[in-house]
Amino acid sequence: MPVAVIVAVDGPAGSGKSSVCRGVAAALGLRYLDTGAMYRAMTCAVIQEGIDPSDAQAVAAFARIPVIDSGVDPLAPTISVNGADVSAPIRSELVTSAVSPVSAVPEVRSRLVELQRDHVANAREAGVGIVVEGRDIGSVVLPDADLKIYLTADPAVRARRRAAETGTDAVGATEAALKARDAFDSSRATSPLTQADDAIVVDTTEMTLQQVIDHVCDLVHQRRENDV
Ligand code: C5P
Repeated sequence: MPVAVIVAVDGPAGSGKSSVCRGVAAALGLRYLDTGAMYRAMTCAVIQEGIDPSDAQAVAAFARIPVIDSGVDPLAPTISVNGADVSAPIRSELVTSAVSPVSAVPEVRSRLVELQRDHVANAREAGVGIVVEGRDIGSVVLPDADLKIYLTADPAVRARRRAAETGTDAVGATEAALKARDAFDSSRATSPLTQADDAIVVDTTEMTLQQVIDHVCDLVHQRRENDV
């Protein structure tokens, strides 16, 4: 395996992808790309433009316009639209409830997949690896990734973690919203959430965050040793 290891991590909402990927990238000195943040940033731009997120035609026509920039330091990831920091608004309820239909638009996906592959090419050129998280990374964006992980967890546990993150007591409503988003993301025509055939499944239901980070780091080391 090249020194600049490319790790693809996919999984449903609330499976712990972001915390795990940041932890792994920081521990191994790799870059980190949150593709969900890119789809959320595009959704923010759509809303700011006054476009209805469910109007696929209008979203498609707009998809090439906003400048979306991701900072790939796992200790301080950033995301901006046309130069403005959108790290807070992309986590709003408004954006979370509109992101799935925007992400299902093929023109949005092709635009963002291009940017994602540019980040990976830059990391390779710089001789640094990268951890990329999303829904279609192992299956579509980076089918040749050195290591593919599919993170999952029991829906009730995912909902509890997400509710704790957002500071709400409404765990039942959070679970219903996560399930609805998963169903939408898994059933769309273009690049649905899928487990790549060669992905290693890590069920985090019974694991702490640190245990998952250590386990994924071990998988990277094993992959490296197998390649020597
Ligand atoms: O990972 P996160 O929950 O922030 O992703 C937000 C949304 O972005 C997902 O529900 C999905 O609709 C979309 N997404 C996607 N493909 C990716 C990453 C995220 O469609 N690679």
